[in-house]
Amino acid sequence: MSPLTRREFVHGMAGILLLPLDRTEPQLVLYNANFFTMNKRLPKAEAVAIADGRFLAVGSSEEVQALATSRTTRIDLGGKTVVPGFIDAHSHPASAGLSHLRMVDCDLRSIAAIQAALRERADKTPPGQWVLGFKYDDTKTAEGRFLNTGDLDAVSTQHPIFVEHRGGHTAYVNSLALQEAGVSEETPDPPGGRFHRDPTTGRLSGRMEERASDLFTQQIPSTVTRSDRREGVKLISRMMTRTGVTSVHDAYGTPEDLQAYQDAQEAGELGLRVYCLIGSAQIDRMMAAGIRTGFGNEWVRVGPMKMTCDGSISERTARLSQPYIGRPNDYGILVTEEAELYERARKAHEAGWQIGIHANGDVAIDITLRVYERLQRELPRRDPRFRIEHCTLINDSLVERIRALGVIPNPFSTYVYYHGEKMREYGAERLNSMFAVRSFLDAGVPVTMTSDYPPGPFEPMMALQSMVTRTDLRGNLWGPRQRVTVEEALRVGTVHGAYASFEEKLKGSIEPGKLADLVVLGRDPTQVEPSSLIDIPVERTMVGGRWVFEA
Ligand SMILES: [Zn+2]
Repeated sequence: MSPLTRREFVHGMAGILLLPLDRTEPQLVLYNANFFTMNKRLPKAEAVAIADGRFLAVGSSEEVQALATSRTTRIDLGGKTVVPGFIDAHSHPASAGLSHLRMVDCDLRSIAAIQAALRERADKTPPGQWVLGFKYDDTKTAEGRFLNTGDLDAVSTQHPIFVEHRGGHTAYVNSLALQEAGVSEETPDPPGGRFHRDPTTGRLSGRMEERASDLFTQQIPSTVTRSDRREGVKLISRMMTRTGVTSVHDAYGTPEDLQAYQDAQEAGELGLRVYCLIGSAQIDRMMAAGIRTGFGNEWVRVGPMKMTCDGSISERTARLSQPYIGRPNDYGILVTEEAELYERARKAHEAGWQIGIHANGDVAIDITLRVYERLQRELPRRDPRFRIEHCTLINDSLVERIRALGVIPNPFSTYVYYHGEKMREYGAERLNSMFAVRSFLDAGVPVTMTSDYPPGPFEPMMALQSMVTRTDLRGNLWGPRQRVTVEEALRVGTVHGAYASFEEKLKGSIEPGKLADLVVLGRDPTQVEPSSLIDIPVERTMVGGRWVFEA
């Protein structure tokens, strides 16, 4: 709950919203701007007053400026558009930050560019030590083929090299890495994994699928220290806030990640707020300490328990009721049995935890809903706000069950735009029921905005464009029935994200008493061509009344 009194009142005909405080002197006034407040009582405003990291007043420039004293800092925003800070309700910031710190970012447009980036790192790395890469995506390189051992041997034969795919399910290695992991042409495929072979020669190609990468990751010395983790958080916080993200839900945090967020916050290096889902394997020690969802403060808070039901959308392993296009016997995979999901969820539900289960395909969503429905039948809890992480492929009856139970779906917001080439395997018709923001909104379900970064880009302006246009970066349209308006997409990315973490009284809109988290945009997103939303510059980001990014 907000420590401030909630008694707001409407003052005068012009509709200024004011918070009666003991201390009514604003430290900061932002005026002459075009505020989209997301507050239904006063949807548009020109100015805000801020004190102690929260909004004190919202209204016209004249009204709000009248509250300023000689000690108040006043900033003229020159008519710019301001929206509440964006909430990315499912991403992996702590681990992504660490990856950015230790690994080469292979999100590049050719194999030659990837080789050059890896070579630069190898040149700075003592021979024999690993060179690591991540965010590699074969569909985004000019060559349109997979990296192979030859490509990576050309980078270095003195360093073992290991490159992860952006989707996280395959990896690519050089000859020295194969040698270090003891993998030869004779090595059989490990359980749950596969060594990919060149179809013409039958020899190892250097591509490792699923559990086959474990043989390599086991060889890579884990030298991550507590201060590395803090540095990783600092780095990702800078990267995300410059795009307008002010809150994230870390979708698979560990106690070490929580520590890193807290360390960064104490050191003044955390620019965004974190709601941290905890993996079910890690939850026992926290439960033993009496911790449950909601523990923490407005910067770092313990979120739900996280579990996984099925496979991935970007790597085409989600569990579907109808097969993938072009693979008539492939329906995807289930990762955890329903009985196990239920047992673990019951324990967490009883202990007062919110629950978030990763379910992409319609079969997995059905299983997850059965678990949630059973929990509420057997152990009814008021307002449990069950979450379905991704909740990608829906149908009318699933949406109705989601609505009836008050479940929060967290679909990928940048996939249509960024991962368009992967959508062919789902097919044009099925896309009308995927990332189904329109269907959720029509049913009154508080669907959120998410990136799942690293697999999906986190830029909120890309998410807006993707949700509004349903068009990919090559201009292909995917599932036009799920289009929403810019205003709706903004609400999804702000108000709904706050609700998903039980923080709707604290953030998500610009209104008195709420945290002063906002984004100044270079253009009004409701006044531009929807296909150019992505080009709107983020000029400044404020979190808790402090600028955390200024262009
Ligand atoms: Zn995720």
